[in-house]
Amino acid sequence: MKALAKTKPEPGLWMERRAVPEIGPDDVLIRIRKTGICGTDIHIWNWDDWAARTVPVGLVTGHEFAGEIVEIGRNVEGLAIGQRCSGEGHLIGRQSRQSRAGKFHLDPATRGIGVNEQGAFAEYLRLPAFNVVPLPDAIDDEIGAILDPLGNAVHTALSFDLVGEDVLITGAGPIGIMAAAVARHVGARHVVITDVNPARLELAAQVADVVPVDVTKENLADVKARLKMTEGFDVGMEMSGNQAALDQMVEAMVMGGRIAMLGIPPGKSPVDWSRIVFKAITIKGVYGREIFETWYKMIAMLENGLDVRKVITHRFGVDAFRDGFMAMKSGQSGKVVLDWT
Ligand code: NAD
Ligand code: ZN
Repeated sequence: MKALAKTKPEPGLWMERRAVPEIGPDDVLIRIRKTGICGTDIHIWNWDDWAARTVPVGLVTGHEFAGEIVEIGRNVEGLAIGQRCSGEGHLIGRQSRQSRAGKFHLDPATRGIGVNEQGAFAEYLRLPAFNVVPLPDAIDDEIGAILDPLGNAVHTALSFDLVGEDVLITGAGPIGIMAAAVARHVGARHVVITDVNPARLELAAQVADVVPVDVTKENLADVKARLKMTEGFDVGMEMSGNQAALDQMVEAMVMGGRIAMLGIPPGKSPVDWSRIVFKAITIKGVYGREIFETWYKMIAMLENGLDVRKVITHRFGVDAFRDGFMAMKSGQSGKVVLDWT
């Protein structure tokens, strides 16, 4: 089969011929149809310090996918050949206290497909049946291929009650934009999204009914005045990984505000703790998606009018994967989807 692998410890990914994976009794084999390129894949392409420390050379990359089940292990029940599916890319252990309590997304032994284990940028993927998420007809393959990052957005957005609340999202990357759409869908009042990249803010405004703010041109105090907000944002979602964005968020929050942090700062970054203490702010770190509660909720939302399709700005056949990665690296794209059929 064709597979996109990290063949050499240097920038790039290479299309190779690999054997189709053999499945175990608890696995399924998925014929991949569409995959999404993630920021994580860009780190792996660039071979930065994190990637060099984490990703074994030779690995087939990719973790955002949709496809069809073509083979089933002998212990697997409840799935059938021909079933369209996506799936959770975090392979969990069953030994930890959290896992045994059913909090699978908090298992410290989690391994990621396309990061630690063979990934989805291939014609076929082996996946534990446990991780499979069947797709209803209402969710086509390209939306199926971005459920992983949509799940990050949904999990972050549902961290706190948003109904009637004023919400600030810092970072209009694909995940920030989708989180804005989710906040709207579940009934937030004002949804303000910031970035320093005008193309990203334009895209945000196309995907969701948001107030886009270029923080190089306008400050959040003026935005609050413009929206006639007397105090501050009730809920913040940090989705840039940028120190300045977090500082601006803390400043713009209401007393007792709640912040969900998905963005990953590049290293240790200073925080003005006294500001957080005196504003009585709650901060929650968010990792991945809830397995499988986030999947149920996002599929229900997609079936009930949540529309994030416009966040997909580029589509390529898989042989043009380089163009897809370059589009992602340009900062001018939303999600980029590769077609493996
Ligand atoms: P992205 O890099 O595409 O988007 C980040 C955006 O932040 C960019 O558009 C960038 O221009 C913007 N930005 C930079 N400086 C800013 C500033 N000062 N103010 C406002 N915006 C600013 O990333 P993404 O794929 O949308 O992911 C969002 C974040 O979530 C990233 O940090 C990513 O690493 C992280 N992430 C975390 C998890 C997790 O499980 N915690 C999972 C996926 C992604
Ligand atoms: Zn991803």
